[in-house]
Amino acid sequence: MTKSPKKLAIKSPIWHPFTQHAIMPEMLKISGASGAYLQGQDGRQILDAISSWWVVTHGHCHPKIVEAIKSQAEKLDQVIFAGHTHGPAEELAQGLIDITPQGLDHVFFSDSGSTAVEVALKMALGYWKNTGIDRTKIVVMESSYHGDTIGTMSVGERGVFNKAYDPLMFDVGKVPFPQVDYEQQTFDALEYHCTKGDVAAFIVEPLILGAGGMRMYSADTLRKMYEICKSHDVLFIADEVMTGWGRTGKIFACEHANITPDIACYSKGITGGSLPLAVTLCHSKIFDAHYSTDRSKTFFHSSSYTANAIACAAAVANLKIWKEEPVFERLEKLSAMQSNGLARFSSDNRFTNIRQLGTIAALDVVVKDDGYLADIGPKMYEYFQSKNILLRPLGNTIYAMPPYCVSETDMDNVFNAIADAADKLL
Ligand SMILES: *Cc1c(COP(=O)(O)O)cnc(C)c1O
Repeated sequence: MTKSPKKLAIKSPIWHPFTQHAIMPEMLKISGASGAYLQGQDGRQILDAISSWWVVTHGHCHPKIVEAIKSQAEKLDQVIFAGHTHGPAEELAQGLIDITPQGLDHVFFSDSGSTAVEVALKMALGYWKNTGIDRTKIVVMESSYHGDTIGTMSVGERGVFNKAYDPLMFDVGKVPFPQVDYEQQTFDALEYHCTKGDVAAFIVEPLILGAGGMRMYSADTLRKMYEICKSHDVLFIADEVMTGWGRTGKIFACEHANITPDIACYSKGITGGSLPLAVTLCHSKIFDAHYSTDRSKTFFHSSSYTANAIACAAAVANLKIWKEEPVFERLEKLSAMQSNGLARFSSDNRFTNIRQLGTIAALDVVVKDDGYLADIGPKMYEYFQSKNILLRPLGNTIYAMPPYCVSETDMDNVFNAIADAADKLL
């Protein structure tokens, strides 16, 4: 048994996510937010360069979203969604079907990325069960992240974050991450699993593995994996929880590969980052497999807050922003700022794997102990905090994923801070 460190003076009963309280006793208290900035209780203005964990798209407290939340809260807050429906959910569902890749015909609501993925896995298994075909295996890509519930951990990368829960997790088939020039190994592994005939679905983060270290692969590779699945009738699940809502330069990453997944999961940016909401969209064949007068074929899933009316209204307002405001222009501008910002590190040998996908920029610090627990991560985090910039490296990977309203000056500050951090800490 390891000895516990002496308890630091803890001022709050709150247990924070992904936080080691013995190392980080003080939480930064935030009292407001607007645009790309968080306001600290102490008056500091902090640039939110990671969109508050990848959720905020247009900026904090976008007036149209705030207004939609206010006006919906006065009309209908929440209603049981079994046997009932409401305007904001209907409008949102139709709006989603209109903008997502064509062929996704049904919308199932839940409240987080993890639950959207759980729903996707259950839809896939339910589809095969109700079709009378014995296919129950899920194939995944190494280094992926799909959430922190037991099911989503099972289909995600195994490591220090989930070692304790390993006995609860189910087995999956794995394909390697498609590294440049080694994509064929991924295709071969996928083909190998699919050929066995027991694979229900392949789940993947399209084009970029987020929490797995902002690892990127090409649209051609995504398309090829999709085609392999199609040729074996394996359901293709796209987890667009992070990639959705413009991050990659298009609304959804699958658009780059011109594919329509059988099942797609969206969450994070769906309300512009204002309220928790998620959806799992599916092809009609999956809905149809559950459509029956036989009640045992029902899709048995629900969350208490399924399609919360206020969250749906916020998401409808988000759709309107995409239609009414020059969001694509903002994406292009931000992408260009990211390219310019990264360029200065291209011959800096303290950094490696300099990469970008749309509005997401990432680079790795060269260290001996790389990986998620690399010492440099927390040191850099603190340094950025001292500069009033919220950047939260994933181990030795620094990335910037700001809201689309950031200014050129903001992004200059981000890249200056990264350069200064390297000067001070390396
Ligand atoms: C964040 C994330 C999830 C989990 O979403 P939560 O809302 O945190 O449950 C799932 N998949 C991907 C790709 C993510 O980035």
